[in-house]
Amino acid sequence: MRPAWTVAAVVTVVVGGADPARAGPAAADGAARPAPLAGRVIALDPGHNGGNARRPDVINRLVWAGTHRKACDTVGAATASGYPEAAFSWDVATRLRRILEARGAVVVLTRRSNAGVGPCITERAAVGNRARADAALSIHADGAAVGARGFHVIHPVALPRLTADIAAPSARLARTVRDAYAAGTGLPPAGYAGRGGLHARGDLGGLNLSDVPKVLVECGNLRNARDAQLLTQPRFRQRIAAALAAGLERHLRR
Ligand SMILES: [Zn+2]
Repeated sequence: MRPAWTVAAVVTVVVGGADPARAGPAAADGAARPAPLAGRVIALDPGHNGGNARRPDVINRLVWAGTHRKACDTVGAATASGYPEAAFSWDVATRLRRILEARGAVVVLTRRSNAGVGPCITERAAVGNRARADAALSIHADGAAVGARGFHVIHPVALPRLTADIAAPSARLARTVRDAYAAGTGLPPAGYAGRGGLHARGDLGGLNLSDVPKVLVECGNLRNARDAQLLTQPRFRQRIAAALAAGLERHLRR
């Protein structure tokens, strides 16, 4: 008994002595390491809203999207069995918010629940602008042809006096989020939109009106049976949130 105790004690002393900083691993971890997103402000914009369908008078109102007039908001897509995009985007946003806040970020959301109406795309952009967000992320899932599957990340093209200042950082954010999303979810890049999971567009008010780097993720195609089977699972949505958090963190830590 005694020799064994002696050996254990010696090992402890050697390990502790070799690296004094690791002498108390439990205390040193957590306490000493700063939160990776401390001081960062992130705007999350869950697409659509659960109450949009009952207020066409509000969401069909035309607003200025930077280059043309467009509907205030839309109802969004749904799976064949009726799981709506608004519920999907709200669930992913709340999961993502939890992860980002745990890493020290300040998170602002463009809507407070999934039971309301709107807001308009103009206000969705204004929320990120007012917060002077370091990054803004719109969360959607597509309603494309049933045979098409996969995700893509939309970023703003450079429009003079509109998005020229945020186009380059938004494109960088899009690439980082694309890489993290592909790695974290295993979903393929969409074969029907953009290229390699990236799509630059100039017709989306939520991106055109942003003064902060912003991208919009189409997390998958709700109309496709294989994508829908994944996107309707809470556990998979947690995986989506973790992947988006990884992309945002990688971009903002640089
Ligand atoms: Zn959408």
